[in-house]
Amino acid sequence: MYDLRIGDVLDFVRKRGVKKLLLQFADGLKQHSFSVVEELNEELQGVEVLVSGSSCYGACDVAFEEALRCGADGIVHYGHTPFPEALTYANELGIDVLFIEAFSNTELLSRAIDKALDILCSMNDVANVGITASLQEVPHLALLRQRLEREGYRVHVGLGSNRVKYAGQVLGCDYTSALSVRDRVEAFIHLGGGLFHALGLGLATRRPVVLCDPYRGEAREVEHEVRKVKAARLHYVVKSMEEARRYCVVVGCKWRQRHLHSAMRVKRRLEERGKSVYLLTLYEVSPQALENFPEPDAFVITACPRIPIDDYANYRRPVLTVLEALIVAGELKLEEWSLCDWKFNEKAARDVALEGG
Ligand code: SF4
Repeated sequence: MYDLRIGDVLDFVRKRGVKKLLLQFADGLKQHSFSVVEELNEELQGVEVLVSGSSCYGACDVAFEEALRCGADGIVHYGHTPFPEALTYANELGIDVLFIEAFSNTELLSRAIDKALDILCSMNDVANVGITASLQEVPHLALLRQRLEREGYRVHVGLGSNRVKYAGQVLGCDYTSALSVRDRVEAFIHLGGGLFHALGLGLATRRPVVLCDPYRGEAREVEHEVRKVKAARLHYVVKSMEEARRYCVVVGCKWRQRHLHSAMRVKRRLEERGKSVYLLTLYEVSPQALENFPEPDAFVITACPRIPIDDYANYRRPVLTVLEALIVAGELKLEEWSLCDWKFNEKAARDVALEGG
């Protein structure tokens, strides 16, 4: 179902002279770990292959520290494209890194597109459609575009910030490719398995989104979920404003989730409002981890902004994003709520649009 490019991994190991290789898979791809190990072991002599079993949700989370701790001189990271600084950092550490997209190949793609077209057809006044994809589905945007154009739609595929490699690709915290075409479209179709990116797309663009899922051969609108999540977020912000006196600002410890500067800014702003603020470091943010600390009335997560957005129902107390905490602290207005740092996202989107995206 996924192109795991074993040949490219073998070339990488041989050319770079890697002796100890750490394989890291996005969580949805971990089930393929040991079959990749078996294929590599058949071809490679004298190379030790280890698998990182730690969680991995994004390109912000390359297993540099695990590689250093176990003495690996090479990392193969499956399922994400690199942030620009990843390769520079790997160089500084003396670790070779190969990123593999793991593009998908599913027989249900065509059926999913048919269903997405049916839904689009039933929507009023849609002539311009933006299309996006999760990384694994990026190659299928071409077929989706062709099918839409055959039906008479004008199709827009945007370029994103320097954190996304392909036109139309989105990340959980970066919808610049969609934002760069948002003003030209009446609706989006997102190609991908599961709700995660489609939900973020709806929250970020405030346009109707049809999720086209090639794994299930299904398509559906996600407006209900977008409304529900937005309402929940505003509820937690207002509840925190009215009731929370003690806050705990959580600093993530994963590679590109350490935002100490943001954490200190939020702490200062909340203290200026008369709140008490604790600082906490965590490698893995979870309800269990936060339950160890009974004092705070609310938490602010400065690691991945999707933790509060997607998992809020699992937490007993409000968990806020950085932007939500700044609303509580009075630096931003409630109407300025957004999924994550859209001042950055929208500026990046404008820049690429100006360049012809
Ligand atoms: S911060 Fe969160 S949404 Fe952004 S890339 Fe990392 S895991 Fe994905």
